[in-house]
Amino acid sequence: MSGSVTDERSDADCPACGQRGLRVFFGEDSVPQNSCLLLDDPATAAGFPRGRLEIAFCHGCGFVTNTAFQPGSAEYSQRYEETQGFSGRFMAFAQELARRWVADYNLGNRTCLEIGCGKGEFLIEMVKAGAGNCIGIDPGVHPERIEDPEADQIEWIIDFYDERYTHIDADVVICRHTLEHIPNVYEFMSGIRRAVGDRPETVVLFELPNVARILHEVAFWDIYYEHCSYFSLGSLARLFRRTGFEVVELSREYDDQYLLIAAHPSPITPGAGEPLVAEDDMDELRQGVDNYRSGYQKLTDEWRDRLNALRADGGKAVIWGSGSKGVSFISNLDITDEVVAAVDINPHKWGKFMVGSNHEIVAPAALTEIKPDLVVAMNPIYLKEIQADLDALGVDAELVGL
Ligand SMILES: [Zn+2]
Repeated sequence: MSGSVTDERSDADCPACGQRGLRVFFGEDSVPQNSCLLLDDPATAAGFPRGRLEIAFCHGCGFVTNTAFQPGSAEYSQRYEETQGFSGRFMAFAQELARRWVADYNLGNRTCLEIGCGKGEFLIEMVKAGAGNCIGIDPGVHPERIEDPEADQIEWIIDFYDERYTHIDADVVICRHTLEHIPNVYEFMSGIRRAVGDRPETVVLFELPNVARILHEVAFWDIYYEHCSYFSLGSLARLFRRTGFEVVELSREYDDQYLLIAAHPSPITPGAGEPLVAEDDMDELRQGVDNYRSGYQKLTDEWRDRLNALRADGGKAVIWGSGSKGVSFISNLDITDEVVAAVDINPHKWGKFMVGSNHEIVAPAALTEIKPDLVVAMNPIYLKEIQADLDALGVDAELVGL
């Protein structure tokens, strides 16, 4: 079921600032509730539970949220496979970020807690960069898969982070690509602030997607059920201040796809310090919402027409990337046979099926058999490494990025 733009007032309170009256600007009636689960057969994949999107903008703080999200409905477990750690480009970014954080915030031999550590790759990089003992918490971590010697310095906890873990005494709290999965962001950040307590030297480091880019580029594949909370630099900094943090650094990274924030606990709430220049983005966000509303139909029509035309000519298209962006791309276009398979470089996904659309997930090597005419990369930042893989396999297909 494809989505549609709308313009309605919701009576819901903003989960970030509490203001009443959000503006719902995009809706989709039936989307898979998860996009990174590994499913063993097409029937399970096709019949996977579905939910609704009602994507709304807060005029008070710039926060974007899915007002139809049902807490607890998305599954995060050991069959959740979100890692991008098999990409050289992504790992180079993670390594550089770990080195930068350790150097900039003097984290040598400091104790790091990572909330939502995924498969643990980033904590390994933190230890390599000089951090001390680390604790990683995630319901989807597989300690048995981690062979790096640095893991000796890391304690893994297979669980969600909540008030039961506030006793963990860490010098650094890291949280990457997790806050966007949490509906009640004010409560979550307040909980972290309470856990940090009266230790002003603690560093809090977050990384998450940048909604300003999604709105500006009409990146409809980046809006999906698992992500119920969407931030810009401004809305993120405003939430941090409101929950008692002093924001010390804000930046956009990875071709503007990600936001980074660094903060310290503040003795006062809202947190001390003047707003940074980068936080002044309410006008940009309002324009972004209008841009998304006016561009969505045209862009989805163009992709659907292109894939239909290729199939009508007897050609074959595959998508490269079977995770959330791929699931959302196919769901928004409401297509099936127009794409013959989804390629993924993560070997744990091969032979499994994509949630919702039941496309089989194949290894890059399978393309020598499939012989696609078109490869659509779900993230253009990987075009260079995908082209290198295609060249190495001798696959002569047109490669395009979203
Ligand atoms: Zn708000």
